[in-house]
Amino acid sequence: MATAAPGVSLLPEVESFLNSGPLAGVVGGKDTAGTSGETIPTRDPGTGEVLAEVHAFTAADVDAGVAVANEAFRKSGWATMSPNDRGVHLHRFADILEKNQHVLAQLEALDCGKLLPHAAGDVGNLISTLRFFTDMAGHVQRRNALAVAGHEAWTIRNPWGACGFIFPWNFPLLLFGWGTSPALAAGNTVIVKPAEDTPLSTIYVARLAREAGLPDGVVNVVPGSGATAGAALSASPGIKRMSFTGSPEVGRLVGEACGRNLVPVKLELGGKGAAVVFEDVDVEETATKLVGAITFHTGQVCCDATRWVVHESIYDDFMSRCQSKLQNVHVDYQLSDTCGMGPVVNAKQRERVLSYLEKGVAGGAEAVVAGGAADVPGHDGYFVKPALLAGSFDNVAARDEIFGPVAFVTKFKTEEEGIAIANDTDYGLANSVWTTDLGRAARVAESMVAGNSWINAHNVFPAGVPYGGVNKSGMGGGVNSIETLFDYWRSQSVVRPL
Ligand code: NAD
Repeated sequence: MATAAPGVSLLPEVESFLNSGPLAGVVGGKDTAGTSGETIPTRDPGTGEVLAEVHAFTAADVDAGVAVANEAFRKSGWATMSPNDRGVHLHRFADILEKNQHVLAQLEALDCGKLLPHAAGDVGNLISTLRFFTDMAGHVQRRNALAVAGHEAWTIRNPWGACGFIFPWNFPLLLFGWGTSPALAAGNTVIVKPAEDTPLSTIYVARLAREAGLPDGVVNVVPGSGATAGAALSASPGIKRMSFTGSPEVGRLVGEACGRNLVPVKLELGGKGAAVVFEDVDVEETATKLVGAITFHTGQVCCDATRWVVHESIYDDFMSRCQSKLQNVHVDYQLSDTCGMGPVVNAKQRERVLSYLEKGVAGGAEAVVAGGAADVPGHDGYFVKPALLAGSFDNVAARDEIFGPVAFVTKFKTEEEGIAIANDTDYGLANSVWTTDLGRAARVAESMVAGNSWINAHNVFPAGVPYGGVNKSGMGGGVNSIETLFDYWRSQSVVRPL
C-alpha cells in the first residue's frame, strides 16, 4: 500500500491508482497483466519506499502487444481516417490530459523524484507537443502531383504501422509527448516500453487515451525490464519504426536489433554539454542560470551544461559566486515546499555520482564544492549534494556523462580555444554560449558540433524547434520538428503512363 511521505497529501486519484494492486500494461485498450505474474517495484526516490508494483511483460507478452498494435493499424480506421478526424481524437486526448494535469504532475514528481513545478512543466510540454503535431498534420498535403512528361504521377504519404518507443526514467511524460505525438498524428499506432524506475505516468496516460476514445490498440504500453521487454520490442520484426531514448550503450543494442530487421530507428542518447562563458557577461546572472541548469532535476538531464568553459578574466569571480550558490542549494524531499533540489532516481544512480566524484578528484580535479551524499532528515531517499570540480578536462569526470548535479569547470583565453574545448567530446547533444556580443554569440553557437546550441540560456525546448544529437548523442533525425512528422509517413509514388 503506497503511503505519502510525511507532510505530503496524495491526490485521491493518485492514491487510488497506486493502491489498485499490481499495475498492468495497456494493450488493445485493456489493462493487461504480464503472463508470468512477475512484477517490478517502482519506488519514490525521495523515501526509497515502494510506490507500486508493476507487471513485467515477457518477450511473448511484448510480441502479443505488437500484434495488437498492428491489427489496430489495419482494422481500427485510425490509419485511414482523415488527419482532421484524427485531430478531433487527439485534441480530445489533450483535453483529458489537461483535465488530469495535477494528477499526472503529482505521479511524475513522486515516481521520478522531480520538484512539483518541474513535473507540472513536463505535463504542459506533453500537452503542447501533442497539440502542435496534431495541428501540423492537418496542414500537410497528403498527395503531391509530380510534373512528369507522358505520365500522371504523384506521391502519397502513408503511415507506417505499429511504431515502437523505449524511454528512459528522467522525463517519462515529456519524452512520451516528443516521441509518440508525431507518430500518432501521422496515423500510426504506438507501443511504448517505459523505464522500469518510472512507469507510472505512462500507464496513466494510456488509460486516459482510452477514456478519450482513441480506438483500442492505438496507444499500447508494455512495461517490464529493459533486458526482456525492451529487448523484445527492439527485436520485433512486427514494428515498422523504432525510437529509443536512453544511454549510448543500450542505444547500440537497440540499433543492432533494428538493423537485423531493417527497421528504421531513431536514437536519442546521452550528452556532455558545454557552456562557453565569455568575459562580457553579467557574471552574477550567468552563474545563477548555470547553477540552475546543473541542479535542475538533480542534473539528470541529457542536454545539461556539465562542462563549463569560462573566460580566464572572469574565472575567479564566476567560481566564487557559483561556489556559494551551490553550497546554498536546499536538498530536500521533492514535494517539500522549500526543496531546491530533490533526489536522484535510485541507489545505483547515487553510487554512480559519488564514484565519479572520487574518480574525478583522483584524476587531478580540484573539488571546489565537494558534493557527496546528502542527509535529509526523515527521508531515506537517494540524495546527493551538488558538486563543482575544476581543472583540466582531460579527466574521466569531464569526459563521461555522470547524470547528476556535477559541473566541471575549466578556463579559456580565446574564442577559438573556447570552441575547441567545447567540441572536444565524443558526444554532440547541446551546448550554450554566454556573451552580450550577438555576432560572437551566433558565430560560436554555429561552430558547436552538436544538435542544439543555445545563446544565454540552457535547456530551452519550445515546440517546433528540432532537437537531436550527433556522434555518441544520437542518430536518426531527432525529434520535435516538421521533419519528425514526415519521418512517421512513408512516401510512396504512383505513376500512370498516359
Ligand atoms: P538506459 O539506456 O539504461 O535505459 C533506457 C531504456 O532502455 C529503459 O526503458 C530501459 O529499460 C531500456 N533498456 C535497457 N536495456 C535494454 C535492452 N537491452 N534492450 C532494449 N531496451 C533496454 O538509460 P537510462 O539510464 O534510463 O537513462 C539515462 C540515459 O538516457 C542518459 O544517457 C541520458 O542522457 C539519456 N537521455 C537522452 C535523452 C535525449 O533526448 N537525447 C533524453 C533523456 C535521457
